[in-house]
Amino acid sequence: MIPERSLRMTETTDDLNLRPDNLEQFIGQTVLKERLRVSVEAALHRGDVLDHVLFSGPPGLGKTTLAAIIAREMGSSLHSTSAPAITRPGDLARMLTLLEKGDVLFIDEIHRLNRQCEEILYPAMEDGVIDLVLGEGVAVRSVKIHLKPFTLVGATTRSGMLSAPLKNRFGLDLKLDFYSADDLSTILKRTAEVLSLRLDGDATMEIAHRARMTPREANRLLRRIRDYATVEKVSLIQADFVRDCLERMGIDEKGLNELDRKILRLMIDRYGGGPVGLKTLSALVDEEDRTLEEDHEPFMLRLGLIEKSPQGRRVTQAAYEHFGLEYSSSSDLFS
Ligand code: ADP
Repeated sequence: MIPERSLRMTETTDDLNLRPDNLEQFIGQTVLKERLRVSVEAALHRGDVLDHVLFSGPPGLGKTTLAAIIAREMGSSLHSTSAPAITRPGDLARMLTLLEKGDVLFIDEIHRLNRQCEEILYPAMEDGVIDLVLGEGVAVRSVKIHLKPFTLVGATTRSGMLSAPLKNRFGLDLKLDFYSADDLSTILKRTAEVLSLRLDGDATMEIAHRARMTPREANRLLRRIRDYATVEKVSLIQADFVRDCLERMGIDEKGLNELDRKILRLMIDRYGGGPVGLKTLSALVDEEDRTLEEDHEPFMLRLGLIEKSPQGRRVTQAAYEHFGLEYSSSSDLFS
């Protein structure tokens, strides 16, 4: 009855099979997993509902997967939606009233929830009630609806955009970090098994190193490489073949794609390394600000290829070196 979040356009049946089923199978994020495991076990032990959980971190690191794992570990039902899909407070109120005891309501991109919907959530999360205003003019009245205890799991790529009152109502505030190449290689081995692909160890590591430290990207690259292997009738995938496929896909040895490189080169060639404002950059590459901020910047910041300053984004010496260009000290952020 609750509107299910429509699957991402890029999500295929493969994605669904690839999602780990429980915390044990979820690779990496050790500290986060341990904190979650303790809270889940404690809640189960006391027969309580799990406290509300907020997951933050760049796209593709496993926030949605963890929401599903929480529901499974708690033995409860998962209801998924995303903030841009909830436009009216009444829709959110309806979702909340339909939840059964212990159900998990997953709201993706929770930083995009509008103000009125957010205000429905405050008392719902804190006291298990919603205050609805019904009618109009002189007939207006307020009704209090008591909800069954539930767990709200919020996911955000922009935790800084979440209002303090909403953030404070999450008992568990968990940040996902980028993955090491070793963890990605473990994830890739499992994916290869699910897809019945034969990959040698070097090939797996080659993909892991170029996967933007992100499981979704690692799995995506592996699926594309499978396409090449199918067409070219390659039965054992080796490192050379992987390198060749990635080159054809425009992925370089750092994992940068064409758009990443375009952004960096624009900053270098047109702006002497920066600073450049986000809006200028997004107009130049014809992409939304959000795409740049969420899908490209975090990884390039993490690699130390760009830096953010109050004046805008600047490229670093490492970016110049990546393109084999000479770095002049006038491009230094602190000069
Ligand atoms: P997010 O919600 O953060 O954008 P998802 O939970 O949708 O990310 O994960 C993207 C894909 O990566 C999923 O298909 C999932 O199978 C895989 N994945 C993410 N994290 C892990 C992990 N720790 N172990 C194994 N697979 C993972």
